[in-house]
Amino acid sequence: MKKALVCGAGGFIAGHLVKRLKSEGYWVRGVDLKEHEFAPSQADEFVLGDLRDPAFVADVLSADLDEVYQLAADMGGAGYLFTGDNDADVMHNSAMINLNVVDEMRKKGVRKAFYSSSACVYPEHNQMDPDHPTCAEDTVYPAAPDSEYGWEKLFSERLFANYARNYDLEVHVARFHNIFGPEGTWTGGREKVPAAVCRKVAEAEDGGEIEIWGDGKQTRTFLYVDECVEAVRRLMESDFAGPVNIGSDELISINDLAAMVMDIAGKKVSLRHIPGPQGVRGRQSDNRLIQEKLNWSPSAPLRDGLEKTYPWIAEQVAIAAKT
Ligand code: NAD
Repeated sequence: MKKALVCGAGGFIAGHLVKRLKSEGYWVRGVDLKEHEFAPSQADEFVLGDLRDPAFVADVLSADLDEVYQLAADMGGAGYLFTGDNDADVMHNSAMINLNVVDEMRKKGVRKAFYSSSACVYPEHNQMDPDHPTCAEDTVYPAAPDSEYGWEKLFSERLFANYARNYDLEVHVARFHNIFGPEGTWTGGREKVPAAVCRKVAEAEDGGEIEIWGDGKQTRTFLYVDECVEAVRRLMESDFAGPVNIGSDELISINDLAAMVMDIAGKKVSLRHIPGPQGVRGRQSDNRLIQEKLNWSPSAPLRDGLEKTYPWIAEQVAIAAKT
């Protein structure tokens, strides 16, 4: 039986990854600062603690592990990452986690790691045209990410790659592009745009109004979480180190995303555009490399994932309204 450590297992994507690893027969140790908010963890062992602390990392990263999945990060949507208010914490906290985890792997001789980077590593100047953003893996240098979060991800990609080179680790790096789905943050300021739009529509009266940051013409692609986990597992089973994009290439504006959510909700609400953090004008996963190396592309359109996500968020809104 393979043994895996999943860092950030109290969070959204890693919570789903734990379920997937369990369904494949793994023994899983999950670690996080907090319990999973929305579903009891399916990890065999769940350890609460702070991965910024090297002594805690030394405790949980045992020599008997076969694989480490490093998804813990100080993380949020545009309202958290693009205001500038959290930049020092975002860089410090996530870099500390990555420095500790990869070095403890070296010390314990645990060789195989997955590291979750982000589309936020790509240069801002290639993402100014909402209809034709460029996010091919090899366009990342010369580096010019649009956020400090992106700079930390780029640093940590290089950190893992250099440990692989100098200490013979087997490292696989993916750059996630806007992953969404049930059991993710949907309120409180750290939620990302699909969850925020679902929440706003769920909270609105039919015929009411919701707020959208910016003109809503900024474009993105969104990938359903089960598809992401499938791609992560294929990457880990391959001999391809990456970095590789894991995302959807179905480009949609935020206004059209809102319209799709309204349609799923069976509600008509109007959009009020207000100033707010927006990030780049366009971002789209370029899936040519992952298609070539792993024969992977999303199996279903965006709407399918939203049809599973909206009811879950509407239920959370209803539960919150009662308490
Ligand atoms: P998330 O915030 O739900 O999960 C991250 C988890 O890390 C949280 O549960 C958090 O408590 C934990 N964590 C933070 N600091 C910690 C610490 N010091 N010690 C222990 N645990 C700590 O985020 P997510 O959306 O599931 O993202 C998972 C990973 O994927 C992150 O590395 C993120 O940067 C990356 N990513 C996500 C997306 C996306 O669209 N969700 C896009 C690009 C990259």
